[in-house]
Amino acid sequence: MTILPKSPSLNYTQDDLKALINSVSVATQQMAEKDRTLETQLDASSKEVDSLRTRMEMIRKESLVDALTGLANRRAFDEQLGMTIEEAKAEEAPFSVLMCDIDHFKRFNDTWGHATGDQVLRLVAQCLRANVKGRDTAARYGGEELVIVLPKTSLAAAMIVAEQIRQAVASRKIVVRSTAETLGQITLSIGGAEYRSGETAADVVRRADACLYAAKRAGRNRICSHVDDEATSPAAK
Ligand code: GH3
Ligand code: MG
Ligand code: MG
Repeated sequence: MTILPKSPSLNYTQDDLKALINSVSVATQQMAEKDRTLETQLDASSKEVDSLRTRMEMIRKESLVDALTGLANRRAFDEQLGMTIEEAKAEEAPFSVLMCDIDHFKRFNDTWGHATGDQVLRLVAQCLRANVKGRDTAARYGGEELVIVLPKTSLAAAMIVAEQIRQAVASRKIVVRSTAETLGQITLSIGGAEYRSGETAADVVRRADACLYAAKRAGRNRICSHVDDEATSPAAK
């Protein structure tokens, strides 16, 4: 828009005024059009930001989940354990860790194949999920080792959960759906430890692991919460 001033007299003719009004109106229309374009672009950008945010959140969640079992993965477990230690320090509340390992799983894989072994791992993960509460985190620690962190839970209470899980797994009949062939019993050994003040995450996991191996040495399909053997749990059937 070009408006030439007719100063100093300011004697505008009607035509001048019409031209002036006309150019103001054209400029206004152009501005409005620009506004609409900007609004559309802004709308598209904000949708793109929303979809990127959703994707990022999905990727973040996926990065914390074990693809095979759907349980939390090792990274998520480490994070959770760290947070639980902080919470235990702040609130002086107990918490416990259960380390679980499938018995003779190599033999199972060798006999029935890795794919069937994977199905068994999923089934064991399901038993863990079904027996823990919302605030507990069941995770795949690695291979056929699963771990649970139980915030605000004493060792005695954690061992009750451990025994429930042991029984749940041992009572499942493993059957090939297509042939109805029975693959025998799958069992778990579980070691439990309650966090002791001043320990690191690695310390409490190491003690749970030591108990797990005591359960293995004592014959498998059992739970153990102390490395000295007289404190081992109900024996396997
Ligand atoms: P133990 O009772 O002493 O624990 O014996 P084990 O055979 O279970 O232990 P070992 O450490 O000798 O073998 C672990 C086996 O677990 C070997 C491996 O084939 C199997 N395994 C680990 N991860 C997976 C997996 O993701 N899928 C399958 N199918 N098998 C796995
Ligand atoms: Mg094993
Ligand atoms: Mg193992």
